[in-house]
Amino acid sequence: MRLRIVGCTGSMSGPRSAASCYLVQAEGPDPVTGATRTWNVALDMGPGAFGQLWTHVDPCDLDAVVFSHGHADHIGDVISLHVHRRWGPGRGLAPIVLAGPEGVLDRVRQIDGVGPEEAYEGEFCERSLVAGRALRIGPLTVTPATAWHSVPGFGVRVEGPSEGDPGRRASLFYTGDTDQCDTITAGARGADVLLAECGFTEQETVRGIHMTGARVGEMARLAGVGRVLLTHIQPWTDPAVPVAEARTTWPGPLGVVHAGEIHTI
Ligand SMILES: [Zn+2]
Ligand SMILES: [Zn+2]
Repeated sequence: MRLRIVGCTGSMSGPRSAASCYLVQAEGPDPVTGATRTWNVALDMGPGAFGQLWTHVDPCDLDAVVFSHGHADHIGDVISLHVHRRWGPGRGLAPIVLAGPEGVLDRVRQIDGVGPEEAYEGEFCERSLVAGRALRIGPLTVTPATAWHSVPGFGVRVEGPSEGDPGRRASLFYTGDTDQCDTITAGARGADVLLAECGFTEQETVRGIHMTGARVGEMARLAGVGRVLLTHIQPWTDPAVPVAEARTTWPGPLGVVHAGEIHTI
């Protein structure tokens, strides 16, 4: 299983990266042909991400998009995917799974500026995420865990074949946007990689929206994860700040993601 960092800037697109989008890839059998192929699942698709996704994979080969929540910095570029599949090279392909909190297509309509008569039948197959209910996409399973944010949202645990040992199931937990809470910690328990949002520093005292580096570290320790990757850092924040904060609570492997990176899991 591979994690490709398509976009990782917090709350917006930034000078060095698009907004949130992470591509998870794994090899598995195709149900139609029986042949092994690469499966592609995008986690979030914020502003600027669709164009950058194209540098990692042909968008025609996407199997599913999973939205952690409906904030524009995580879903805004779904409109580009819609155009690609209705009028572009993706025209005529089967509808792609679009999963997220209940009402995800309503959010797409709002961004698109259209009414309820627009069903996106040719482009999207809507799936509502439910905490604890796994969604199977080829060799990958995606299991949501309830987040603590300003709108309904989920962190997601993605499990699939280990890159180094395909007989073993490896795991990634992506927090989406959330403050530290028991449900997110439980969802991440024992994950090989914790991809954790770090939208706040200790300068911000409001609760229920984002984590700080210190709260990510505490969560990582409670969940017993293998490796921590910080993301969703605001473009005006020096990444050294959340890293230093995380170091106060987490002694294990720690990094900050950058657009274009590929992490094997
Ligand atoms: Zn966000
Ligand atoms: Zn958000």
